[in-house]
Amino acid sequence: MLQDTVFRHWYNPTPEQIASTVPAFLAELGGPTIIHLNGRDNSRCRVMVTLLHGNEPSGLKAIHQLLRLGCQPEVTLLLAVVYVDAALAEPLFSHRFLPGQQDMNRLFTPPFEGCQGAVAKALLEIIREAHPEAVIDIHNTSGEGPAFTVCVEPHTRYLDLATLFTHRLIITGHRLGALMEVSDLGCPVLTVECGGSMQVQSDEVAYQGLTRFITRPQLYTSVALEEMDIYHHPVRLELNEGGQLCYDHEPRLNMDITLPDHIDRRNFGVVRPDTALAWLGPRGIRVLRALDERGEDVIDDLFVEEGGKLYPRTTLKLFMATTNPDIAISDCLLYAVKETDHDWEATADDEADWK
Ligand SMILES: [Zn+2]
Repeated sequence: MLQDTVFRHWYNPTPEQIASTVPAFLAELGGPTIIHLNGRDNSRCRVMVTLLHGNEPSGLKAIHQLLRLGCQPEVTLLLAVVYVDAALAEPLFSHRFLPGQQDMNRLFTPPFEGCQGAVAKALLEIIREAHPEAVIDIHNTSGEGPAFTVCVEPHTRYLDLATLFTHRLIITGHRLGALMEVSDLGCPVLTVECGGSMQVQSDEVAYQGLTRFITRPQLYTSVALEEMDIYHHPVRLELNEGGQLCYDHEPRLNMDITLPDHIDRRNFGVVRPDTALAWLGPRGIRVLRALDERGEDVIDDLFVEEGGKLYPRTTLKLFMATTNPDIAISDCLLYAVKETDHDWEATADDEADWK
């Protein structure tokens, strides 16, 4: 393995060089690593990123399985395994990020400070130098649910990439500092959420999708719009400063909001105005905010309080509902879109650049 200042580079490992178990493979990587594989056509390149979050192993498992099988990709492939340190911290695959550090997928924006900022910056430089046709960034969700993909603008190329993994695509206008938001990489960057890390099917989604990603001669074949479920303009439901939150099967005293234990079962389901979503405490609905893509609080458009419970005001689809209180407090409780918001306004596809 070669080492630049941040990443190790491992060129064309053979199946015999790959440890037989995923934990041993991870330990062998030992830190941020780029695995380079030659393809049949090395004039082109594709990039797969994974483990930006240390507790989301499906992408790494897919890489491990592929390397053990020794399959040759169609074009040059760069596999970036990023936040290995967080994944290695005991218990294995339990830390989204290390204590005292930051969420790695919020750092892909200047000023790139500290060790983690340096990792983000180095990864972007490696991608820019490789001029890939596409970047996919594989994650697991923090709650359970089906797989989906996320991109930052409507463009048919995202549909083509998404369909390698699933028929669900979310187009978000929220800007949080995630890798997929970087707009000058010269190609689409798609986030793939394979489902919960404890769900066997998530590993399967990652493996099958990655296999398609590396073996398809052409990625951009213009999949039919009708084949996709598209969710536009998601709103983030967040807890206001100082709010107390918990998960239970009945309302808990002294809590501002008690969410049902299995709120994640609502992911990608339709919820109508007669469906109670949570129990509210004495502060009522004001303990929550629902931020749209401009950062405006639109809670009264989407939700309503009635009899101490939280209800949708209109028919909604929910996704990324977590059952992890730390993530609910530090990030958000869930995302919601209005059922009617399935519009598609693709940007022009006929310019020289990919956009
Ligand atoms: Zn993640």
